[in-house]
This record gives sequence, C-alpha cells and structure tokens, in this order.
Amino acid sequence: MSEEFTEPVVVLHVGLFREADCWVRLLSPSKGVVTGFAFGGMRSRRRFCGCLDAVSKVQFRFQRSKRGEYLTLCEGALLDRFTGVRQRPGRLGMAVNCLKFVEAVQLGEHGAPEIFALLTQTLQLLDETPALEPVVPLFFRARVAFEHGYQPELDQCLLCGCDLEPGRNASFVLERGGLVCGACQGRAPGPLAALERGQWELLRRVLLAPPEQWPVFPERADQVVQATARLLDQYVQYHLGVQWDGNRFVRS
Ligand SMILES: [Zn+2]
Repeated sequence: MSEEFTEPVVVLHVGLFREADCWVRLLSPSKGVVTGFAFGGMRSRRRFCGCLDAVSKVQFRFQRSKRGEYLTLCEGALLDRFTGVRQRPGRLGMAVNCLKFVEAVQLGEHGAPEIFALLTQTLQLLDETPALEPVVPLFFRARVAFEHGYQPELDQCLLCGCDLEPGRNASFVLERGGLVCGACQGRAPGPLAALERGQWELLRRVLLAPPEQWPVFPERADQVVQATARLLDQYVQYHLGVQWDGNRFVRS
C-alpha cells in the first residue's frame, strides 16, 4: 500500500513539466522542504482550484509512491492566498525573498514545525500590517537560523557567565553566536560587534518574540535597526552559509 497523508503546507515554488503537469516545492511542517507532483494539475480546477501558486497556504492530500521515491499531490484546499501581499509589489518581494531562503537552506525535518509556523506568521505580518520596515526578510532569516539550532546565548556572557542586562556594555561574538560582557571583550574569539542598548533589545525581540511584535521598533529606529540588520545578516551567512546576491541565494 502506498502511504497517504494530509497536511497544511506553504507553496514555495511551482514549475511546469509536460503540458498539464507541475511540480510543487513546498514547506511541510513535518517533512521540511519537499517536492510533490500534481499530475494534470494545470487542467484540474476541481482538485487544485487556486492551490498551485507560490505564496499560498494550502492543505494537500499526499500520496507517496510505492517505493517511496516521490510524492504525488492528490488534491488541495486553499487555506490562505495572502491577498494583501499579492496586491503590493513591495510586500510580494519580501514574501518571495523569505520563500527563496527557505528553499535555499535545504531544510529537512529538523526544526520544520517551528519554521513552518514562523513562515506562516511572517506571511500574515506582511499581509496585514499597514507600515513595515523592509528588514522583515532579514529578521526572518535570522530567526530561521535560530530555529535551525544556531541559537545565540542572549542572557549570559559566553565566557564568564555573568547575567547581561539591557544598558550594560556587551558585544556580539559572531563565531560563537552569543554575547560577552564588557570585562571579557579582550579575550573573546574572532570579530566582535559592540551592542547599543536598543540593539540588544531588538536582537532579543527578533529572535524570541512572534513576528507580529517585530515592527514595534525602539527609539532611534533607523540606526538601531540598520546596525542590528547588518549583524543578523553576518550571523546568518556565517552559520547557514547562504548569501543573497540581489536576485537569489547562493552558497557562500
Ligand atoms: Zn564576561
């Protein structure tokens, strides 16, 4: 018997092969990034109405082939099209950037439930929030790295273990993923970035709070947001080894 299962997924990328068939790259909460085939998908409005489009949340019924080599999409039910994202090019660009990143990090089962929830919440944020900073995809990437297992230590100094509090002098250690206190800065490994008070708070919010809380930026937003974004970008590149070249993600 071939295995069947049904679950909600986010559609990342759809491609056509032959006349009416397509392959669908998707993020599953149980399996990570996988590809399924919708045979006759382009002809069957009844089985796939509105489901074969990137930037959609869809509940698919899957069937695994007898030898387990590939997944067939049997039918789908559209759960969310994120219309507010599709109507605004800027938002669509940010959403596609997040989807391409998920594809590029070759996500397996590990961390998939958390990253699926994170992607869904980020798409909702892009869909529903009136004003947003363009740094949302960068925050998303940092959070994917965090959920993927590269979790920086944000409460204690990496070297002496003292408690760190906002307002105290602290620096980010890129290589180790964490913070060191002022007294330990001289003996920390690799390059350091000194954190200002607002940055420490933003870093915590991006890595720990749900995406809906990301847009509430502290005072002096621009400078703090830009500095934190640069730091997070370096952190993601260092730990996940992928870099945005302006059009797509490449292995660095
Ligand atoms: Zn210390």
